[in-house]
Amino acid sequence: MFDTLSDRLAGVFANLRGKGRLSPADVDATAREIRIALLEADVALPVVRTFVAAIKQRATGADISQALNPAQQVIKIVNEELVAILGGETRRLTFAKTGPTVIMLAGLQGSGKTTLAGKLALWLRNSGHTPLLVACDLQRPNAVTQLEVVGQQAGAAVFAPEPGNGVGDPVAVARAGVDRAIDAHHDVVIVDTAGRLGVDAEMMAQAAAIRDAVQPDETLFVLDAMIGQDAVTTAEAFASGVGFTGVVLTKLDGDARGGAALSVRQITGVPIMFASTGEKLGDFDVFHPDRMASRILG
Ligand code: GDP
Repeated sequence: MFDTLSDRLAGVFANLRGKGRLSPADVDATAREIRIALLEADVALPVVRTFVAAIKQRATGADISQALNPAQQVIKIVNEELVAILGGETRRLTFAKTGPTVIMLAGLQGSGKTTLAGKLALWLRNSGHTPLLVACDLQRPNAVTQLEVVGQQAGAAVFAPEPGNGVGDPVAVARAGVDRAIDAHHDVVIVDTAGRLGVDAEMMAQAAAIRDAVQPDETLFVLDAMIGQDAVTTAEAFASGVGFTGVVLTKLDGDARGGAALSVRQITGVPIMFASTGEKLGDFDVFHPDRMASRILG
């Protein structure tokens, strides 16, 4: 992902090599090329506008360093602005002070929620936590079995609906799951919820009802970076329908343009917390804005 953006930006910087200083015309031309590179990568228009305005102002303005040549200066500014649109600092999970920390996963069907539940469970176990996975996706055939499989792979317990556990009612399952976590001394509960192929009022209402029932400490919106332009509208719909405290970008190993996913932080104001880069449980890490910016800049 981001190969085209990387190549495009490399081309912009190459055009500046050998220049002694930047004329206003150079700054304009550079800003224009960066704008095209971002738009071609599917970065959302409002984000492109802010980004390009900042580049233009900074490349013309006072923070031109004597120690760097114009190409290096522009690379430095683009890097810093990329880190800024990606959220600046890494945002860590907030754990509950008392009782189990409840993490709810929300997102479209196929975004990678169930896989993420396993990844997060493994990651949490590796840092000494004892997560319980709760299967509240009762919509998609096999979602419960899939969660049991990833739970087993991650070495984490799974709470699934069965007679007495609220078969067919995801809100009851979620509530019973949190009760189980308290009884069995799990310190984190990961609630997997149902998605649909597109944004859907019933799905939102169900996710909101689960949220109200379990009062999550963190609600993670799981976003498939491969869905292109739809990423922004989907994120906005979940932000108003359910609300979330963090974003997880999945399928960053794919070859789509990915810029829309890069826009989600600025559009929603919610930090990107984790990134998934493959189907295996280990293909997962905390999201670091600075590392992502460096990767894009090659
Ligand atoms: P859910 O419907 O949101 O629970 O989505 P799933 O967890 O079932 O994931 C949908 C598909 O995407 C599965 O085939 C996963 O193996 C795959 N998947 C999930 N995360 C990633 C990722 O980061 N990269 C790749 N390449 N595939 C992924």
